[in-house]
Amino acid sequence: MAVTVLYEKDVDPKVIQGLKVAIIGYGSQGHAHALNLMDSGVDVRVGLREGSKNWKIAEDHGLKVTTMDQAAEEADVIMILIPDEIQKDVYKEHIEKHLKPGNTLAFAHGFNIHYGYIKAPEGVNVIMAAPKGPGHIVRRQFTEGSGVPDLACVQQDATGNAWDIVLSYCWALGGARAGIIKATFAEETEEDLFGEQAVLCGGLVSLVTTGFQTLVDAGYPPELAYFECYHEMKMIVDLMYESGIHFMNYSISNTAEYGEYYAGPMVINEESKKAMDVILKRIQNGEFAKEFMDDCANGHKKLLEQREAMNGSLIETTGAKIRGMFSWLNSDKED
Ligand code: NAD
Ligand code: MG
Ligand code: MG
Repeated sequence: MAVTVLYEKDVDPKVIQGLKVAIIGYGSQGHAHALNLMDSGVDVRVGLREGSKNWKIAEDHGLKVTTMDQAAEEADVIMILIPDEIQKDVYKEHIEKHLKPGNTLAFAHGFNIHYGYIKAPEGVNVIMAAPKGPGHIVRRQFTEGSGVPDLACVQQDATGNAWDIVLSYCWALGGARAGIIKATFAEETEEDLFGEQAVLCGGLVSLVTTGFQTLVDAGYPPELAYFECYHEMKMIVDLMYESGIHFMNYSISNTAEYGEYYAGPMVINEESKKAMDVILKRIQNGEFAKEFMDDCANGHKKLLEQREAMNGSLIETTGAKIRGMFSWLNSDKED
């Protein structure tokens, strides 16, 4: 394999256990990093805005909580886990002034460093520990004894041991159980944005909703269309995730497998490949980052319009009704 993958035997836990870590933010990634690090014997404090509703929640989880300024002042390693679009302002206001030579600034996604929104001072390490999974799964799998793989990256190695720090941090997150993959900030940022846009979130949601709409337009009941194009998706993906496409194909009928080979390339075709190339180009040349940041500066106008349209769509209202009838699903959580 061209990439380097490291596991528990390759990493020294004592490096991160010997440092003070500040986790800025207690959202999806923040709660997972803070709790996993605490359970891994790391000296963690969570830095939050005064009056944040997460303050009591994090304290109830057994964590030390303080202001962002105080956390950044105390810590050797400052991990920024707040939404990408506000990181540059929060960095300027609450973090930059507390950075001392030998400190480490850490991220879970390379957006702000790669596109130049945050410029760390010389003398400070810049690292990334990026779990390849949503924060709630990072926490859940850790408590279950497994782990989500991490990408580990070093942009600036001021102390000469930035790699030891990031690998040890990933160990504490549980990533060494599944594999820590060495990468660069550019690789992580670009492939992460591409994956979520073209395949995982953008591609998947469009595929599911377009399939659903095709059946509904043809007069089939929305509930049946939901089961067919949405509900079954997880079962198929679980089989692929656990044992490969060949095993998923083995589990489905020959009829379904034949249909897969003939219909799949009709749906995702040369045009789709060209669209993916355009998406990747816009990520690589910074056009996407600029468009997103402009929308954020404009009060998230486009994002909120799209979100409202999605939340009110037939597939969403149909899904909410159906999931409400499943006894085993505590469904439709806010977070
Ligand atoms: P999030 O949206 O869950 O973070 C919300 C938290 O940020 C809040 O709970 C609060 O603590 C804090 N916050 C919000 N607004 C703030 C403000 N104005 N000032 C100070 N704090 C504020 O964030 P997230 O999705 O966990 O993303 C954090 C980082 O992790 C991002 O860089 C993201 O790209 C990266 N990442 C996220 C995921 C994921 O699973 N969501 C996966 C991989 C990497
Ligand atoms: Mg992402
Ligand atoms: Mg079938």
